Amino acid sequence: MIACDCEVCTSPDKKDKRLRPSIMIESAATTIVVDTTPDFRYQMLREKVKDVDAILFTHPHKDHIAGLDDVRAFNFFNKKKMEVYANSLTEEALKREFSYAFSDKKYPGLPEINLNTITLDPFSIGDIPIIPIQVWHLKMPVLGFRFGKFTYITDANRIDEEEKQKIRGTEIIVLNALRKQTHVSHFNLGEAIDMAQELKVQTAYFTHISHQLGLHKDIEAELPEGIHLAYDGLSIEI
Ligand SMILES: [Zn+2]
Ligand SMILES: [Zn+2]
Repeated sequence: MIACDCEVCTSPDKKDKRLRPSIMIESAATTIVVDTTPDFRYQMLREKVKDVDAILFTHPHKDHIAGLDDVRAFNFFNKKKMEVYANSLTEEALKREFSYAFSDKKYPGLPEINLNTITLDPFSIGDIPIIPIQVWHLKMPVLGFRFGKFTYITDANRIDEEEKQKIRGTEIIVLNALRKQTHVSHFNLGEAIDMAQELKVQTAYFTHISHQLGLHKDIEAELPEGIHLAYDGLSIEI
């Protein structure tokens, strides 16, 4: 957190350095990034990513879309438009926030984006099948995504019963857990643990962690078996 001197913000432990939440999914043939946070550019540089086939968006909040302009580098080196998959709610925000990229007056250096509108219907990108899952972020519908045995859900504080059905059978889940105290639009730590246990997933990782949650090593030690805090740079093989 900018201007904060708390023990998390001043911790020397790398696992306490929390950029905004995003994941990259890679198969043999396809690379997908979920959300372009304000840290997208640095995350792509850090992981030395050379090509991304598609960007998938969960919801239109600024901390999940702000980095989209930086797909320009991928456009330039890979000589193709970036395929973007978003629901109509997020598309509207992208067209508003990045109006210059969608205007008829094109000029060199603009990010080149091809919008693909998604609904709750399953779809595929390359060789990766995707099932959208609608979760609630207070009153905003947010998309989670299931990729085979792996499910990614961020910015939720409630999941309807039918949507839980789509998650069951997942072996690994990522869920948001903001802090210990209750929050109006995010699961807190206790709620995220309850959800992981209710869904009976073998392994859960928590993301979208605030500095208010405390030190990684302290919280990790308190968590039930099979439940972990995620951290920046974490890589999981499925
Ligand atoms: Zn949000
Ligand atoms: Zn968020």
